[in-house]
Amino acid sequence: KLPMTIRTRIAPSPTGDPHVGTAYIALFNYCFAKSQGGQFLLRIEDTDQVRSTRESEQAILDSLRWLGLDWDEGPDVGGPHGPYRQSDRSEIYQTYCDELLAKGHAFKCYRTPEELDALRDARREQGGFAALKPSELALPADEVAKREAAGMPYVIRMVVPEGEGPCPIEDMLRGTIELDWGQVDAQVLLKSDGLPTYHLANVVDDHLMGITHVLRGEEWINSAPKHKLLYEYFGWDMPVLCHLPLLRNPDKSKLSKRKNPTSILYYKDMGYLPEGLLNYLGRMGWSMPDESEKFTLEQMIANFDIMRVSLGGPIFDVEKLDWLNGLW
Ligand code: GLU
Repeated sequence: KLPMTIRTRIAPSPTGDPHVGTAYIALFNYCFAKSQGGQFLLRIEDTDQVRSTRESEQAILDSLRWLGLDWDEGPDVGGPHGPYRQSDRSEIYQTYCDELLAKGHAFKCYRTPEELDALRDARREQGGFAALKPSELALPADEVAKREAAGMPYVIRMVVPEGEGPCPIEDMLRGTIELDWGQVDAQVLLKSDGLPTYHLANVVDDHLMGITHVLRGEEWINSAPKHKLLYEYFGWDMPVLCHLPLLRNPDKSKLSKRKNPTSILYYKDMGYLPEGLLNYLGRMGWSMPDESEKFTLEQMIANFDIMRVSLGGPIFDVEKLDWLNGLW
């Protein structure tokens, strides 16, 4: 056991049907926390106001409850303990963004979409990394004053290192991942409507919610340098990162609707047993002692060892799921 109280979370965005990949990540976070006597949280990341829906949020809650992956705490909304929801927390992100502005770690950016396109095109022509840096985004002071006076919309961006240079990221499973500051752009933190982007809200919430370990999909590896920088700017300890491999179709391509049903609701509605689906997802991700073929959630927790998680792309194959489901 680790000498601390482990707190993990999943942070799905409610922008569509709840995905089996979310169940997969949830299972790892759940088993890791429970195997260490810790807590598992659910946070709804609905900062994308255009794509997020309450319907999708409800489907995520229903799916997790159906699977038995219930979360340990949350404010009293939407049930006995509703999930944390980022759209209820905008003021918190604004306050932290003000702190970054005051400390010079963030800046107002009045660039228009056309100007941004032109800057990016110019960047591409130079070859190398396309990330826009604070110096390129800066406008002369009189131009800023003019745009401010005209009430033009602006965003808040984070200050990032200007040039290229090694940016090592520590990952619990992968060891040191070598990234480069050159690929890290002056990320928007607050949009022109005052709402946060994923990066700001995610870091602030992981800190405020006391998350000790972030187990998430490998598609977020490239976001890690920005997050690392934000933790430094705030003076907070960064949680341990662990990027899990994405689920794949039997032909090794990224799991897609065309080749496999990907909605948890599909399996629920088709009469699959939650135990069967969970057991299948668990067996896919880490090796379990194979004296018996099926494992309950309790057994999976008891057997869970994060260091045994395999990094090879796990294959999601409905035929195998059917077989395992049939055992229950
Ligand atoms: N909202 C992100 C998602 O939809 C969360 C990523 C993370 O776990 O940090 O997957």
